[in-house]
Amino acid sequence: MSFDRILGQKQPKQTLKNALQNNSVAHAYLFYGQESIGKKYTAIELAKTLNCSESVEGEACDKCLSCRKIENRTHPDFFFIEPVKSTPTAREATIKIEAIRELQRKIAFHPYEGKVKVAVIDDADLMNPQAANSFLKTLEEPPSATVLILVSSHPFKLLPTLISRCQAIQFQPLTPENIKKILKETMTEEVMEENDLNFRTLRSRGSVKKAMTEDMADIANIRQEIVNLLETVSFDRMDIVFSHAKSWARQSDQWEMIFNEMMELVRDLAFFRSGCSESEVYNYDIAKRLKPLASRRSLKSWLEIFNTIHTTQLALSGNANAQLFFENMLIDFCEAA
Ligand SMILES: [Zn+2]
Repeated sequence: MSFDRILGQKQPKQTLKNALQNNSVAHAYLFYGQESIGKKYTAIELAKTLNCSESVEGEACDKCLSCRKIENRTHPDFFFIEPVKSTPTAREATIKIEAIRELQRKIAFHPYEGKVKVAVIDDADLMNPQAANSFLKTLEEPPSATVLILVSSHPFKLLPTLISRCQAIQFQPLTPENIKKILKETMTEEVMEENDLNFRTLRSRGSVKKAMTEDMADIANIRQEIVNLLETVSFDRMDIVFSHAKSWARQSDQWEMIFNEMMELVRDLAFFRSGCSESEVYNYDIAKRLKPLASRRSLKSWLEIFNTIHTTQLALSGNANAQLFFENMLIDFCEAA
């Protein structure tokens, strides 16, 4: 894969090509932008280009031993660090200080067989504080012939001191055309109807991973559940509040999807309430059901509901009592009526 085979990302690719041509590749980069739009591939591509033994016009050949070893992550001068879970059941994966220390030991030497050592830290925002502080020292005194690439979809979670020592390159969401192209190329097993393809593309918001991995049946079920809830929840039906709060509190692995769907639905309802057309909403396929629901509350009420969902989502990223927070949120729904 050469830079040109990474879809979209015209600006990042040009910046890197210029740096390669002018021999001005930075010691450290931060590739940031939403999830699954090509940041990691670009980092690997840069590693290949820097080490390729048969590069043509500044592009990696993809065929030489160096290119193949980097692709397979077996090159002794290419290091790829990503978060790991401490136990299989741990909720969050992290990058621990041990992984950073091991990297520091390895990059202290001259390149073994390549020209430049390249270390990619994927999801760098998941470095725990000790790991981040330790990595900062490497950024402050980078070893020679080394390029460090931090990849992050949540750069605001990174230490500002880390960010300030990297050249930051922003990646953009992919265009619907590019998402469709990738879906058509990669999802050959499932014969996808044009409608399904369009729907996945629209929902992806430019993220390939979202477009490829969303389970449409799960999404349809949860959407149905949320619309039912929004249609019926009120102070006269507190049974609905308590049953949903109880069941959602137990499904922590589903929270992200529940919150995303809820926010998108309520956003669409607010849009419909403001007189927007179907072309402007995400859930256009169920517009017939959403339109009458939208008119049952004021725009202010829908916006209040949106805010309470957002606040609850933030609160639950800590160690909050989930059931209590869900109950509070749903009672806010009733109040906003
Ligand atoms: Zn090569």
